[in-house]
Amino acid sequence: MDVITLTQRLLAFDTVNPPGNESSCAAFLYDLLAAAGFEAQLHPMPDGRTNLVAYMGNGTGKPLAFTGHLDTVPLGHQPWQVNPFAGDIIDGRLYGRGSTDMKAGVAAFVSAAIAGAGRLKQGPGVLLLITCGEETGCDGARHLVQSIALPPVAGLIVAEPTLNRPAHGHKGVLWLKATSRGVTAHGSMPERGDNAIAKAARFITRLENFTFDTPTHPVMGRPTINVGTIKGGLNVNSVPDLAEIEIDLRSVPPMQHAELTTQIAQLANDDAEISTLLDLPPVWTDPNVPIVKRIGDICAARTAAPMRQASVSYFTDAALLQPALQNAPTVILGPGDPALAHQTDEYCIVDNITQAVEIYGAILTDFAEM
Ligand SMILES: [Zn+2]
Repeated sequence: MDVITLTQRLLAFDTVNPPGNESSCAAFLYDLLAAAGFEAQLHPMPDGRTNLVAYMGNGTGKPLAFTGHLDTVPLGHQPWQVNPFAGDIIDGRLYGRGSTDMKAGVAAFVSAAIAGAGRLKQGPGVLLLITCGEETGCDGARHLVQSIALPPVAGLIVAEPTLNRPAHGHKGVLWLKATSRGVTAHGSMPERGDNAIAKAARFITRLENFTFDTPTHPVMGRPTINVGTIKGGLNVNSVPDLAEIEIDLRSVPPMQHAELTTQIAQLANDDAEISTLLDLPPVWTDPNVPIVKRIGDICAARTAAPMRQASVSYFTDAALLQPALQNAPTVILGPGDPALAHQTDEYCIVDNITQAVEIYGAILTDFAEM
């Protein structure tokens, strides 16, 4: 099956998350990889959704790993001009929800791995980590790293859309909820109550002045903080006894989220209790690490785009997979324009997908010869 047909087959599975429903798509890839001689295993989550791990190699050394997710974001409120699950090709563009983010990327590394299977079988080989539930906060990858021990790998390629140019990391995400509690009373007698909204407001003012004690990252820049939601109070004539805010922090290495959470909790003091909603650490690999440099050279030769240090604006499963893979060198590299991810009428340029297969194939060949 050629890579375009494979992408179309993957697009035909409705894996909009929520709810995801990735299992039949994962089972389809399981059959394909098992038939090609891969040691493949489905790793279901308690809710029935499934991750897929496949390996081809002789059991020695560290394989090269690829990862991609099978779920997509919802279709959105705007009507689509094309059927989002039909995989129509119009003017060299392959349309569909998940074409760019990231079924083309999964199809490309699966195609390259199957094409190179004969050679990969003679060496450390390749490990494919195909996940569910990425778009809602890397739920599949979290389950995978908690339920099985991943083997050491030589490197990890995350096939998220980068127009086939390597990127070396992304910021971390830390979403916190701050809950302020008070005592309710009649609005005409506020002195009898304890106003939870006033506590939240005092805390927000302190957050406005929060400064990060971390150096500026040479590529990703500064960490950020933003209060994204606020809820509190039931009616105008009561003293509110509950207020909640949600805080979106984006971190850069070498920041530690546990430390950051402690700092925010200290800032909240008695005005709010802090709980964690999402915790995905930052990802960064020095572009001069040998395997990353070789991948960069291969991409530069095929895309005519010079190698440069880069990061992506989205988070990826690498936030959880890289620590579980003993901090293996990690590159984000895949077909598709990241600007088209999550868009109405999402598409991926067909030539970009075939180019990704060539690049992954060249990387696997180079790796086998290392
Ligand atoms: Zn993605």
